[in-house]
Amino acid sequence: MNLKEIYAQLTEDDIKVLKAIERRLKTHEFVPVEILEKETKLPLHRLERSLYHLNKLKLLRRMSGSSLGYRLTILAYDVLAIHTLMKRGVLAEIGDKIGVGKESDVYLGIAPGGKRLAVKFHRVGRKSFRHVARNRPYKLEDSWLLQSKVSASREFAALKELYPRGAKVPKPVDKSRHVVVTELIEGAVELYTKPDIPDPLKALEDVLVTIEIAYKDVGIVHGDLSEYNIIVVPSTSEAFIIDWPQYVEKDSPLAERLLRRDVEYVVRFFKKVYGIPLDVDEVVRRLKEL
Ligand code: ADP
Ligand code: MN
Repeated sequence: MNLKEIYAQLTEDDIKVLKAIERRLKTHEFVPVEILEKETKLPLHRLERSLYHLNKLKLLRRMSGSSLGYRLTILAYDVLAIHTLMKRGVLAEIGDKIGVGKESDVYLGIAPGGKRLAVKFHRVGRKSFRHVARNRPYKLEDSWLLQSKVSASREFAALKELYPRGAKVPKPVDKSRHVVVTELIEGAVELYTKPDIPDPLKALEDVLVTIEIAYKDVGIVHGDLSEYNIIVVPSTSEAFIIDWPQYVEKDSPLAERLLRRDVEYVVRFFKKVYGIPLDVDEVVRRLKEL
């Protein structure tokens, strides 16, 4: 079942129970049924029906030690974020997965007016998580979620600074938990696929202007820039820089080195694939002029 199908199966009781567990996980490793009874004010038979349903949908992890208790799976946090975004009127529908990165899953979203959105679920360190999950589910799941929330917050904050200053980045829309919503760049393809671009110089300029706005106006360096984090719209030769959570502040001791590396990767790729000759030192020098 995909995210959309799972979300469609949930009842109001289910959502109420998920939210109660989420709240109580701030103080409990596993939330006991008695607490959920008080917290949700649901009659026991409805609470139990809901717990059974949520467990079947793999939204809960059950702990049967001295007392029965529940935790949430990552899927449950995904569902809660979708629910919040829908209640806020940001999202009307969640669609198919459109991108898988190292540290995220990106889904198509539909806004109430029909506009298409990119819904990015941050998944920091998911590889190492899967590997050790069996031995230490509790602590690792928590740090996974916490780091993913930090990652989402950082990305959203960066986009909110960059976009209004004219940087070519997706327009930020909203954020909940570990999930960031932006506009969908229609017709975009990843630069690493070496698409035919009618005006590659324009695409390169978009990238360099965005690096410049980030550095001079916002005071940050992307830090993970390459053909994998640039998407282009072939029909217009526009280019956008995506994937900002790891940005560093200009005054960080790493900033200079990362700025140079970002520029190097971009310039090298445009030279190799599109034959545009540019000098890295020259570009970096220009960026540092006030
Ligand atoms: P990761 O951290 O997992 O690498 P990215 O932000 O780079 O995440 O996104 C992964 C992929 O999702 C991108 O390579 C791109 O194909 C797609 N994508 C992300 N944001 C958008 C967007 N706003 N519009 C269109 N496609 C997007
Ligand atoms: Mn990426």
